[in-house]
Amino acid sequence: MTTVPSSAHPDLAGGRLTIDLGALAENWMLLKKRAGDAECGAVVKANAYGCGIQPVVAMLRRTGCKTFFVAVAEEGIRVRNTAPDARCFVLSGLYKGAAQHFIDAGLIPVLNSTYEIQIWAEACEMVDRRLPCAIHVDTGMNRLGITYHELEALIGNDKVINWLDITTIMTHYACADDIGHPKTTYQRENFLHATYLLPGRERSAANSAATLHQDGHAFDLVRPGIALYGGEAINNIPNPMKPVVKLEGRIVQIRDAAEGQSVGYGASETLKRDSRIAYLSVGYADGYHRSISNSGVPMRSVNGSVQGAYRGVLLPGIGRISMDLMAFDVTDIPENQIGPGSWIELFGPTVALDNVARAAGTIGYELLTGLGHRYARTYLGTDA
Ligand SMILES: *Cc1c(COP(=O)(O)O)cnc(C)c1O
Repeated sequence: MTTVPSSAHPDLAGGRLTIDLGALAENWMLLKKRAGDAECGAVVKANAYGCGIQPVVAMLRRTGCKTFFVAVAEEGIRVRNTAPDARCFVLSGLYKGAAQHFIDAGLIPVLNSTYEIQIWAEACEMVDRRLPCAIHVDTGMNRLGITYHELEALIGNDKVINWLDITTIMTHYACADDIGHPKTTYQRENFLHATYLLPGRERSAANSAATLHQDGHAFDLVRPGIALYGGEAINNIPNPMKPVVKLEGRIVQIRDAAEGQSVGYGASETLKRDSRIAYLSVGYADGYHRSISNSGVPMRSVNGSVQGAYRGVLLPGIGRISMDLMAFDVTDIPENQIGPGSWIELFGPTVALDNVARAAGTIGYELLTGLGHRYARTYLGTDA
């Protein structure tokens, strides 16, 4: 068990994050199995979905992962420092003036436009070396990537293409989280056509959802992200992944309040019984969205409110979430079993991350990547 020096002191923090690197490794192994003969990479953008890029990369590298994907080059530099023998693809942003930084750090750019292709070809010519890159083909998402016709034109342009060492051709699915969506079939067909123009290159299309589908999307290299961190990748099926992140808030104070009184900002909730209310030192400034309060989604079935858990028992949230504080109704927990300093689970093994995300009107990805900087962070599974 390791506490990260840069995180809040565990004695002082009002909230703590426990990140189970053993569960992360198991999740990667499951995805690797689903990927069949394809290589299983890992997407570690946005500080490894909030989990900490350095410990996550170190653990995945030890588990056998050799290829990482990040969003921006600075994340890539951190990956290369942690796993110098691994490949690192940068998914977005090869700007003018950036190429030399990529070369110095040994980063592989994913080229998403003819503009970026031009920049990389010029950089290669400058150093007189063909340097590895991936070509991203847009097959129907209309986000990043060149079109089929732009790819054809590139192949006919000797001056540019002869400078590129295109190791990989990739695309990205818009609707893989929705099993059986016709868009995914359509994109896969388009991708296949594009790969025929660049035969013999490594092909990569699958995010977590498409990797878990197991129906011909794995190609040569898969790129799972959210599933590694225990989040739901596919809608409306039981999540096969292990929870990796546990978020807990610490009780500052428990107060008694009488039936008929209101709780918190806006007096949005009126007590239906004499209650004991526990205030935790976690709020929306910590990435626990204010919209979770009073959002009226199904998970908030107990007293119509968001749930936390204390020693495995679900607790209803109460009133609005403030910047630094939020409240739970602890009336049903015996007084001698809970008090200031007790920890309440906000998500983790008892309360699913994605249920909390749904209550906030968002997805697990956003909740994880938005977790704040005031937590004490503890990593499990780091000691051999
Ligand atoms: C973020 C991202 C992934 C990973 O997606 P998940 O849904 O988190 O598995 C894969 N490929 C690209 C291009 C991405 O931007």
